[in-house]
Amino acid sequence: MRVLVVEDETALREALKAELAAAGYTVDLAADGEEGLYMATEYPLDVAIIDLGLPKLSGLELIRRLRARGKSYGVLILTARDRWQDKVEGLSAGADDYVAKPFHFAEVQARLAALLRRAGGWATSKLACGPIELDTRAQLVTVHGAPVELTSFEYRILEHLMLRAGEVISKTELTDRLYEQDYDRDSNVVEVLVGRLRRKLDPDDSLKPIETLRGRGYRLSLPRHAA
Ligand code: CA
Repeated sequence: MRVLVVEDETALREALKAELAAAGYTVDLAADGEEGLYMATEYPLDVAIIDLGLPKLSGLELIRRLRARGKSYGVLILTARDRWQDKVEGLSAGADDYVAKPFHFAEVQARLAALLRRAGGWATSKLACGPIELDTRAQLVTVHGAPVELTSFEYRILEHLMLRAGEVISKTELTDRLYEQDYDRDSNVVEVLVGRLRRKLDPDDSLKPIETLRGRGYRLSLPRHAA
């Protein structure tokens, strides 16, 4: 999943980046509202964390503008603990949830995961499609109840496909979820990772969990159900 962090406090921004990267997110960073608006508009994001007090353009204005430009991904705002008005204004501007500073990273992580899940139409942190179950909190994958060992990149691809199960996801979109800005992109990497995922999830080729739609992308086509 690709997340944008817009926060002007350097130490907090870098700490969030380190924690989010360790949690498996691809992270883009902006230090002020203008840079944040550019990235929020131009980058293929799944979710954004936006501080309200920002130089150049306030967090509230940033959220209003990205919503006005039709961006509908989840937005989590960072607010001061004693400013309830900020929370109300932030939600009114188009944010989906908030975390008050100072916060524990686990709270940010849980709220982000919930935003991503709801955007994909899932009610809980355990996603299930056919015999494949993926626990987004523990980052564990099982097939018919047996654990499957995945690399971090393989897990990210599978999580993205399962969150959006039933939809066609382009190779470009998957590539964007793996790499941060400026990274040398190679879409063949996605083909290789999908090939490895298929072999790990379905060694005898009986389930065929991931369809290839020529020229369009991939689709996780097993039926969704409650885990
Ligand atoms: Ca600030």
